[in-house]
Amino acid sequence: MRIDLHTHSTASDGTDRPAELVRAAAAAGLTTVALTDHDTFAGIDEALRAGTAQGIDVVPGVEISCAINGISLHLLGYWPDRSHPELAAELLLNRDDRIPRAKEIVRRLAAAGHPITWADVEQHVAEGATVGRPHIADTLVSAGVVPDRDAAFADLLSDRSPFYATHHATDPVEAIRLVAAAGGVTVFAHPGAGKRGRLVDDDVVEQLAAAGLGGLEVDHPDHDDAARAHYGSLAQRYGLLVTGSSDYHGTGKLQGLGEHTTDPEVFVALRARAKFVG
Ligand code: AMP
Ligand code: FE
Ligand code: FE
Ligand code: ZN
Repeated sequence: MRIDLHTHSTASDGTDRPAELVRAAAAAGLTTVALTDHDTFAGIDEALRAGTAQGIDVVPGVEISCAINGISLHLLGYWPDRSHPELAAELLLNRDDRIPRAKEIVRRLAAAGHPITWADVEQHVAEGATVGRPHIADTLVSAGVVPDRDAAFADLLSDRSPFYATHHATDPVEAIRLVAAAGGVTVFAHPGAGKRGRLVDDDVVEQLAAAGLGGLEVDHPDHDDAARAHYGSLAQRYGLLVTGSSDYHGTGKLQGLGEHTTDPEVFVALRARAKFVG
């Protein structure tokens, strides 16, 4: 088995349609792929249908934008009941607030002389998709301001840039509770991805473990060896499962599907913790 538990489609900031992503996953030799778009389940039905057609197991998932002590973090939720009202309402809060936030970032960039408008950004967002900074990055690329997404994030779109603005984000303890209430299981995504912004202290990992977190995404493209060793040992200390995944975003980011994978035994243990597998 080859299992990749973290990918993005055009339902958020990936560049492959959900069905294209699933086809690419099958072609890459994966047996299992989770679709985990930011704050939305919009791509899941299409991905599940493609999974059936391609003979590959598609795990329905979501990556929830969270924040604690003013620091942002991402929680992956697997196998939740997608119609759970409270979970759906919380995801909608995150999705909706991303729009004024993105407009504010665009306003600040334009005020500084970068030739982009909100209407330009909309051209890069698929119908109904969760809006994110990668869409603004694509707009800056189209406008000739930067060569690619990576260059946009290195400077203009980084968390440390003067153009950066935040959006509503779920309390992670609440996210764990909501996903569990919806019958799913949560994994802390890329906990040691320090180049993206500030990291939460280890005692937050302990707190989330106590709240019912299922695992830590230890093998991730943004983790160096030291981060892998550190979060691997934290997982052991707090009894958390260790996952690996690519965080594939299509052509917008360099990592390929299956660049990191999850051990089949870990996958079975993770799935066993999910009460709603629909
Ligand atoms: P947002 O959710 O709007 O705050 O944007 C964060 C998203 O930007 C994450 O999902 C990342 O996938 C993406 N991102 C972060 N850093 C980079 C980068 N250097 N190149 C491309 N995408 C990035
Ligand atoms: Fe993303
Ligand atoms: Fe993430
Ligand atoms: Zn992601």
